[in-house]
Amino acid sequence: MKSDGTYTTIPRSVGIAWCAWHQGYSVTARLVRDAAGARHFACFSCREAYDLVPIADQP
Ligand SMILES: [Zn+2]
Repeated sequence: MKSDGTYTTIPRSVGIAWCAWHQGYSVTARLVRDAAGARHFACFSCREAYDLVPIADQP
């Protein structure tokens, strides 16, 4: 808590993860499976580019 009684707003629901496809950190990274079945994080742009589906979104 800051001295004026307010909290600093930190979006804790948004995580920063390493995107294995473009080799950089991204706030949009989600856990996906690659062609070999290994799990890596991929950001939104790379999921679009490589047609990757987040594990959490798979049936
Ligand atoms: Zn990426």
